[in-house]
Amino acid sequence: MEIPTTRPTLTPDDEGYDEARRVFNGMIDRRPARIVRCTNAHEVAAGLMAARAEGLPVSVYGGGHSVTGSAVIDDGVCLDLRLIDDIAVDAERRELRVGGGARWGEVDAATQEHGLAVTGGRVSTTGVGGLALGSGSGWIERYAGLTCDSLLEAEIVTADGRIVMASEKENPDLFWAIRGGGGNFGIVTHFTFRLHEVGPIVLGGMLLYPGHMAREVLAFWRDFVTDGPDALGSGVALITAPPADFVPEPARGKPAVGVIICYAGPLDEAEHVLAPMREFGPPAVDLLQPMPYVAVQQLLDPGNPAGMHNYWSGDFLAEFPDEAIDAFVSHSQPPVSPMSQMIVVAGGGVLARVEEDAMAFGQRQAPFNLHLLSMWEPDHAQDQANIDFTRRLVAAMQPWTTGNAYLNFIGDEGVGRVEAAFGPEKYARLQQIKAVWDPTNVFCHNQNIVPATAPAASTV
Ligand SMILES: Cc1cc2nc3c(=O)[nH]c(=O)nc-3n(C[C@H](O)[C@H](O)[C@H](O)COP(=O)(O)OP(=O)(O)OC[C@H]3O[C@@H](n4cnc5c(N)ncnc54)[C@H](O)[C@@H]3O)c2cc1C
Repeated sequence: MEIPTTRPTLTPDDEGYDEARRVFNGMIDRRPARIVRCTNAHEVAAGLMAARAEGLPVSVYGGGHSVTGSAVIDDGVCLDLRLIDDIAVDAERRELRVGGGARWGEVDAATQEHGLAVTGGRVSTTGVGGLALGSGSGWIERYAGLTCDSLLEAEIVTADGRIVMASEKENPDLFWAIRGGGGNFGIVTHFTFRLHEVGPIVLGGMLLYPGHMAREVLAFWRDFVTDGPDALGSGVALITAPPADFVPEPARGKPAVGVIICYAGPLDEAEHVLAPMREFGPPAVDLLQPMPYVAVQQLLDPGNPAGMHNYWSGDFLAEFPDEAIDAFVSHSQPPVSPMSQMIVVAGGGVLARVEEDAMAFGQRQAPFNLHLLSMWEPDHAQDQANIDFTRRLVAAMQPWTTGNAYLNFIGDEGVGRVEAAFGPEKYARLQQIKAVWDPTNVFCHNQNIVPATAPAASTV
């Protein structure tokens, strides 16, 4: 059912309410007192102040893809940004201005008309808002940095209902904090990003190997990406081969290893760089070919439908030696659910060359980012087995992690994990900035940064 756009506020009895409160993770079933469908910053401010006046808690709905379901809140006010999804590309200045409720699929389509892109999510339905504020990891991050590395300016509704700008020049403390600090500091109604030359045709796709080759593939890939150029974006996923036409009949439904590639440089260079990876094995299925960048950005869409049950965790890896590969493979295979994807993403490149203190997000030097994505049919009877499976894998990988999780990839694992994600110094600085911009923690329905007890002067 479509959500009616003519009705600005939806309450439980309204048509479209159930559709509007739905989020990506089918385990989440929250019932806001009302859902305020905002179309601009003034409406966001009004919706926020009305909720505060009534003493109601608020949530912010960007694209609804947080696995914690933080977009919706029981008995509170959901400030829904999905109608603020305008996209304006200034190809000459190489800048993108985009609404806080837009999704990556539409953004990629618009920027690619000009052969430009900003690092975006690997599934096209993901929201720009939550992903960018959590820093934003995508296939071209080694080439163009994380999403937040390209942020130039943001229009923000603050906890006290003001509309302010944040950039290097205006409110630099706020600008520092929103690049990785998530939705803790205000509601971003518009982002302006720097754009980079990408595509429109890139060498991209997937190499698929049988599951029994997982250890060899991971070891080869680890060394291959570590030495690779910035333009090489890649990840490996331990999956179950889908029942798709491109998969040979006997391999379908069996454990498999997918190496995903997005090469952001020229095609001839890409063919040359990728030759060793292609020749290694060789793969059971080679889907690596020149294709539109927007197609690479949608490669994982079919495997990530909305409404399934999800439990996610992850960690940055400090190293990925053979023993870690062994632990990863033996605890990932066989999975409990054939929909689950245990993913390792390669770091390095441009993202690793940004100063550690440049913004809230750090963790620049971790060579790999582990994303443990358990997904299964929407059946509560299967929940515990999948959660236990994921937790066992998390525990098995502990010896090789940095101890700092990537907040975009984890569920609700408590304030301790949020603090650890930034490290004690950065977390303390974020608490000071939070005390300035949101001293009473209005924006707490998220990966929460607790404000320092006494509001402090700007720290940046
Ligand atoms: C299928 C799938 C694929 C993913 N792939 C990637 C990936 O490739 N790279 C990556 O980095 N992450 C990825 N993620 C994780 C994703 O970035 C985070 O879950 C992110 O929070 C989603 O943003 P959203 O706006 O869709 O979510 P929402 O659930 O709407 O928002 C999550 C929280 O972010 C905050 N927020 C959202 N928008 C705004 C805004 N405009 N202003 C202020 N606060 C806001 C709010 O606190 C909100 O509660 C993926 C998630 C899914 C489900």
